[in-house]
Amino acid sequence: MKLTYYGTGAGEGWPGIFCNCELCKEAKRLKGKNIRSRSQALINDDLLIDLTPDTNMHSLVYGLDLEGVDHLLVTHSHTDHFHPADIELLREPFAHNRNLFHIYGNESVRKRIWTEVPKVEEVVDCFDFHKAEPFQKLSIKDYIVIPLLALHDREEECLIYEIIQGDKAMLYAHDTGAFPSKTMDYLVANKVHLDLVSLDCTTQSEEDGKNHMGLVDAVKQRKLLIDLGLADEKTTWIVNHFSHNGGWLHDRMVEEADKVGFLVSYDGMVIEV
Ligand SMILES: [Zn+2]
Ligand SMILES: [Zn+2]
Ligand SMILES: [Zn+2]
Repeated sequence: MKLTYYGTGAGEGWPGIFCNCELCKEAKRLKGKNIRSRSQALINDDLLIDLTPDTNMHSLVYGLDLEGVDHLLVTHSHTDHFHPADIELLREPFAHNRNLFHIYGNESVRKRIWTEVPKVEEVVDCFDFHKAEPFQKLSIKDYIVIPLLALHDREEECLIYEIIQGDKAMLYAHDTGAFPSKTMDYLVANKVHLDLVSLDCTTQSEEDGKNHMGLVDAVKQRKLLIDLGLADEKTTWIVNHFSHNGGWLHDRMVEEADKVGFLVSYDGMVIEV
């Protein structure tokens, strides 16, 4: 199973659109892996995670090909993960020869579709919305997808996703703090070996664990997963979703993550398990 990171920044991207802090200035100067657009990832070539406002840029600049993508998992309704205005572009005359587009998400995502997609009544035949219920398996093509509860915005049911294809399993966990006990209980009761775990690292150098994770929180979460027998030294561990307020540009992030055995995502990173 292949995972491509298209957007690895937090809500405002890095550099933040309107930010004049030193770390944003430095990212603009250094460019390369210091430039982080907003959250999006693709499983193999056909299962998209999150519909960021940077989706079009990911197609134009990073080579994201949506031709064969008919399924979208949305983690939660925050603006860096879900940009409903682009859903209008599924219909004629903006798009030709498209299959039905399946969107999986929580109630807040559903509400944003019905209130924010321009002329939504003209787009309804182009997509199907499926409410993603925590711990209810979804069968999507040859994937089994399990929405799990995140610890994030308390006003909505934020989700992280376990994705299984054949004998491979990965866990995509952004935005979240320490996993809620219900999620840990589910993972233990339905034990699979996680081949890849992508953990939140929004606050980088700073500890959080309540809405997001810093590197120390990711290390703690990894230990828990390993102690419970869900993952091991063969698992690929990645940190992703970084904010300029966390303090570490890409090279420093790699240096710190290397000390504790994590890989660091960057826009365009491809990893296969
Ligand atoms: Zn986010
Ligand atoms: Zn900044
Ligand atoms: Zn969020």
